[in-house]
Amino acid sequence: MNERKRVLVTGGAGFLGSFLCERLLADGHEVLCVDNYFTGSRENIGHLLDHRNFEVLRHDVTFPLYVEVDEIYNLACPASPIHYQFDPVQTVKTSVHGAINVLGLAKRTRAKVFQASTSEVYGNPSVHPQPESYWGNVNPTGPRACYDEGKRCAETLFFDYHRQYGVRIRVARIFNTYGPRMHPQDGRVVSNFIVQALRNEPVTIYGEGTQTRSFCYVDDLIEGFVRLMSAEDDVTGPINFGNPGEFTVLELAELVIEMTGSKSRITFKALPQDDPLQRKPDIAQAREKLGWHPTIPLAEGLEKTIAYFDKRLHGMR
Ligand code: NAD
Ligand code: UDP
Ligand code: UDP
Repeated sequence: MNERKRVLVTGGAGFLGSFLCERLLADGHEVLCVDNYFTGSRENIGHLLDHRNFEVLRHDVTFPLYVEVDEIYNLACPASPIHYQFDPVQTVKTSVHGAINVLGLAKRTRAKVFQASTSEVYGNPSVHPQPESYWGNVNPTGPRACYDEGKRCAETLFFDYHRQYGVRIRVARIFNTYGPRMHPQDGRVVSNFIVQALRNEPVTIYGEGTQTRSFCYVDDLIEGFVRLMSAEDDVTGPINFGNPGEFTVLELAELVIEMTGSKSRITFKALPQDDPLQRKPDIAQAREKLGWHPTIPLAEGLEKTIAYFDKRLHGMR
């Protein structure tokens, strides 16, 4: 077993955070989960509350936090467009002030600190697939900017604290990830399509469905997080994590309808402003530096996710 560490997970009651807390506890660490429950829930971590190495604190990361820890995973930030656009100013504050606070904490405690960055830093990319060296094509004033630019500024802060103060950083650029515990009203494409299909309601494609995304199953991603955190200190990232399998949104809709045996029709709605046309990670760095690559194909991950939502929606009927 690894040496026991005190690990802070901000956003620990969210979709990814809850799986990360679970993994860290299984690895024998003490976990402090910090969350303001904006998009996360106590339900996501309900099964961990009795664990003797698990502690939860309701706290907003835009405010300072004084605790003693060895490692920090900074995941706090709404990730779905409908949620991050609900209060865009708070989204920017969460990314920017949140980063300053976890970096200040890391500087004082000499903890290693991990940032959950995003493929959104590439914006609507003109390079395909996207390597880490691509600087991106982001509209700085559009409706997605609160998220994209907030995350870009957080990356800047991570690298400045690293260069200026020697803070040990790890920056992961996460591509679309899905799995159980996504909120049914989360608004992201995989959960929307599954919930709509299970209810035999129209499956809503935005635009013509020709835009592409690459979908990574949550277990694969969490393995990547842990590998990056335990890598040598010169592996700061930014490093891409995602599944290079690329699908159009229409293909995803058809697959979900088929796998759920749904009677749903497909309907087409307006494409949101600045919606990226294509996205696919170049994961050469994760392969070379961490020996990481995704192992769960889309159909297998969808099966697990559909089973989760089926159970959850059935319980709600
Ligand atoms: P999520 O919305 O389920 O989780 C985010 C968590 O952060 C929630 O529990 C929420 O309540 C909490 N939070 C939000 N603002 C906060 C604040 N000010 N203080 C404290 N807690 C706060 O989303 P997720 O998919 O689990 O994403 C987790 C992280 O990974 C986010 O930083 C997101 O930007 C990043 N990410 C996710 C994906 C993906 O596909 N899931 C892709 C790229 C990046
Ligand atoms: N901070 C924190 N916890 C700590 C140490 C610092 O939340 O354990 C916050 C602190 O409030 C500050 C921010 O992190 O606003 C940045 O800290 P830093 O030391 O870089 O800046 P300074 O305190 O000099 O402004
Ligand atoms: N999308 C869609 N129908 C939905 C939800 C999303 O067609 O009900 C599209 C959306 O316009 C985008 C893609 O699916 O092109 C992925 O959207 P998501 O919000 O999951 O992630 P992101 O745009 O941040 O990659």
